[in-house]
Amino acid sequence: MDKIISKLHSIAKSHGVKCKFSKLKNDIAGLAHYTSGKIELSVQLKTKAEVLSTFFHELVHLICYKNKIWAKYHSLDPSVDIVKKFGVKVERFVDKKAEQLMLHYFPDTYYLSSYGDMSNKDIRNFLLSYYENYYNKHGRVTS
Ligand SMILES: [Zn+2]
Repeated sequence: MDKIISKLHSIAKSHGVKCKFSKLKNDIAGLAHYTSGKIELSVQLKTKAEVLSTFFHELVHLICYKNKIWAKYHSLDPSVDIVKKFGVKVERFVDKKAEQLMLHYFPDTYYLSSYGDMSNKDIRNFLLSYYENYYNKHGRVTS
């Protein structure tokens, strides 16, 4: 795993971001901090696929924020309406881009979708509760 982690640090660096492992609450797998350009990954992530998939998902959120892609969603304080209207669509978009980016760097590892087989409704509810309870204090999430 050490070799993978060091490769992740160098990929992060090449995108102008930093990456570290932390204890994250509420079963959160990863966070992307927009203003500081930092990715936090949960120490609870076990497998190579989990670590890589979470890293690339968060990296794509940061890239979107920087490049104003889905900018209303990738803002520091998206409104409930924006999350309701675009959350599912954007998260699926981010998953797709993350999968492509991960395939480029790690063609032998299968990307795990951040939302598994959750329905659109479940994802929407998860995002709404996240943005209400957690986001303002901590940053971005995937799970
Ligand atoms: Zn996400």
